Amino acid sequence: MIGEYTCEYLHNTGKPCGRPCVRPEGCRIHWKTKSRFPCAVCGKPTGSSSGRCQSHIGSYYQNRYENRLRQRIRAISVLSESESSSIQV
Ligand SMILES: [Zn+2]
Ligand SMILES: [Zn+2]
Repeated sequence: MIGEYTCEYLHNTGKPCGRPCVRPEGCRIHWKTKSRFPCAVCGKPTGSSSGRCQSHIGSYYQNRYENRLRQRIRAISVLSESESSSIQV
């Protein structure tokens, strides 16, 4: 039974656990742990769904925030355009 799968849990060092295990999710220590992915920027393992580590997640959210701001500005300009056209009519 033991050794059917290999634990693919990524340690902070960037190396996988590699322990033989009976679950495809990982060894008895790591199978409950959320699967981690290497950071898209530096390759450090991270459990965040954004795929970025703690040091690079900030810029990810900053970009999203800026995009949202830009969308809001566009929405306001569209709104004011329709308002001014309704005033003209
Ligand atoms: Zn493991
Ligand atoms: Zn990173």
